[in-house]
Amino acid sequence: MGGAQSFDVVIHLNLHCSVWQRHEPGSRTIVLRILIIEDDTSLVRGLKKALATAGFAVDHETNGAEAIEIAPSEAYSLIVLDLGLPGLPGQEVLRRLRNNGCEVPILILTALGEVKDKVKCLNLGADDYLTKPFDLDEFEARVRALVRRGKGRPDPILRCGSLLLEASSATAMIGEKPLSLRRREVAVLEILMSHAGRLVRKERLISEVFGFDEPVAPNAIELYIARLRQKLGPDGPTIKTVRGLGYLMEDR
Ligand code: CA
Repeated sequence: MGGAQSFDVVIHLNLHCSVWQRHEPGSRTIVLRILIIEDDTSLVRGLKKALATAGFAVDHETNGAEAIEIAPSEAYSLIVLDLGLPGLPGQEVLRRLRNNGCEVPILILTALGEVKDKVKCLNLGADDYLTKPFDLDEFEARVRALVRRGKGRPDPILRCGSLLLEASSATAMIGEKPLSLRRREVAVLEILMSHAGRLVRKERLISEVFGFDEPVAPNAIELYIARLRQKLGPDGPTIKTVRGLGYLMEDR
């Protein structure tokens, strides 16, 4: 690792707490390690300092091809990836990491503020992005959120074939085309996508989409499914009806 440095800080991991505390005698200890792939050394200095203060260990690479080599060698909790790298471009680094089966959450740093670049990164398997210049506090907050999600929290961005859904912001896209969805359509889609390829029982959809005391028309779920099929169109995944049981989402 050319020019690589690491700050090893032993910390106490409390999964129910968003603050990574220092080691306390007798407690379980674990090092959460982050890989930064970025060529702007003054920016890296600032990021390292913020992360070390927050209790993370940091490795740094300026070269994307070398970063791809070292990524599987450590149990990284997060990869921070700059898009504007010399040599191999960041988007290509991202694509190769995911193609190699790397499942580590990836936070993209980009000077490119254009929506299409962000969408492309999300489609390639990025988990979040920050546009430069950014505030260090925001960076640290995003890092903590991604590391926390990596510890058994659901992926905030669901994918099924060409369909992408961020349920928290009700943003859905097929390829690069945004979908306009109502709140309950998002809820139905979220459940089907998080169980893609598996049967979701109709009763489960009803209980998760509607509140306990809400009156539900007998064909309400059928109506939402019909609308979703129409919106997903020929390019999106299909929603199959399993007669008498429920529904199943599949990539085409
Ligand atoms: Ca750069």
